[in-house]
Amino acid sequence: MTRPACAPVSPPTASDPRRIPAVERLLARPEAAALAAAHGRTALTEAVRAVLSGLRAGTAPIPDEAGILRQAADRIAAWHRPSLRPVFNLTGTVLHTNLGRAPLPEAAADAVRAVMLGASNLEFDLATGARGERDDHVEALICRLTGAEAAVVVNNNAAAVLLVLNALAMRREVVVSRGELVEIGGSFRVPDVMARAGCRLREVGTTNRTHLKDYAEAIGPRTGLVMKVHPSNYAISGFTAQPDPAALHGLCRERAVPLAEDLGSGSLIDLAAYGLPPEPTVRAALDRADIVTFSGDKLLGAVQCGIVAGRKDLVARVRKNPLKRALRVDKMTYAALEACLRLYLHPERLREALPTLRLLTRERAEIAAQARRLAPAVAAHLAGRASVAVADCTSQIGSGALPVETLPSAALVLTPEPAGGGPRGAGGRCRRLAEALRGLPVPVIGRISDDAVVLDLRTLEDEAGLLDSLGTLGI
Ligand SMILES: *Cc1c(COP(=O)(O)O)cnc(C)c1O
Repeated sequence: MTRPACAPVSPPTASDPRRIPAVERLLARPEAAALAAAHGRTALTEAVRAVLSGLRAGTAPIPDEAGILRQAADRIAAWHRPSLRPVFNLTGTVLHTNLGRAPLPEAAADAVRAVMLGASNLEFDLATGARGERDDHVEALICRLTGAEAAVVVNNNAAAVLLVLNALAMRREVVVSRGELVEIGGSFRVPDVMARAGCRLREVGTTNRTHLKDYAEAIGPRTGLVMKVHPSNYAISGFTAQPDPAALHGLCRERAVPLAEDLGSGSLIDLAAYGLPPEPTVRAALDRADIVTFSGDKLLGAVQCGIVAGRKDLVARVRKNPLKRALRVDKMTYAALEACLRLYLHPERLREALPTLRLLTRERAEIAAQARRLAPAVAAHLAGRASVAVADCTSQIGSGALPVETLPSAALVLTPEPAGGGPRGAGGRCRRLAEALRGLPVPVIGRISDDAVVLDLRTLEDEAGLLDSLGTLGI
């Protein structure tokens, strides 16, 4: 046991690198065989090497051989953990851009699965056997639902705007009201997109007031396009003016300049009929503009894409533009979009069938009843960490739609217990609770307000799933 007194070496410490076993020795252990069978020898060897080099570089105590293999297994598990995962969006923002915007209906998931695993007629005309056009799968539906003559689909609405500008007004002037030079979510700014599209911005009017005569004076031989932009995420109120849409359209027709409108969200249905704040419909916009652009994953409630719809000759120029090829979408997007658009063919069932509309139209009383029903179970899972109360709150639509309108909703309000230590102050306790909720197997994302974590239940459908996830909080 005892080292000879004359030995010049220091006694080995727990983290002495000399205690680190060889890779081959570890791989020969019985536990390694099971790991290699499950994950393959290549991954296991790499994981063991990574653990050993970490131990060599660090000062942590060296575990025994079985312990090292357990660390290697943890590493492999981490490599396999998906980065993109489902979460519970209980932020109160229904169409949350950072949380993936519109939840898709089952019908869309089924349609995607049906075409994703094998070949499909993406660009193949089954009637003639000739080459087809990928937009054919949705164009007739979009036209039917909006009154447009033609439509194309690209990667998102930002791409749709870029493409329209480039196709219709490259090296020409685009006339835009100063009240509509907006920024949407940081990276989409109308003047910047305009520059990238190769267009010259011709600002008219002022921030709060733009008149028909401002447009009339600006339109000239260099004008390629007049563009209207839905301000989306902000509202101008007070002493404001915009020209009558029909008069502006008439002016553009008279001068033979196309009029485009970027709707942003752009609904296919009249939301007011569902008791929601009104939002311009694509059909109404096409009465006052020649071509419109809107998102697939905002109020439309489908998959990420951008739709260009309008006059046939203009859409044809958009389709022929080489950028269309660079901005086009894949078969899974068409499959999901087509399935969602088909739901609109049955308006009586749309509210039930389209998750976005279903969530947006939930009544506060129903959400409050759900909150009261769930509160005891949630409180049990949070016992010792936070108290749980039911309170009224307001949700918002999100994605820039209807910025000033909110929807009455109800929430579970989690107030962290002062006990339990951690960072000082209620703010710190809140952040810690929010962090714990984000760390759950299916992360729960709420919002912090008044020293509590607020879970707005408007968007909660999978109650059992939420309770399952919260049930692992203490583990
Ligand atoms: C959201 C929005 C965009 C960008 O649309 P994406 O689909 O996110 O690319 C562009 N214009 C307006 C007015 C918008 O509201």
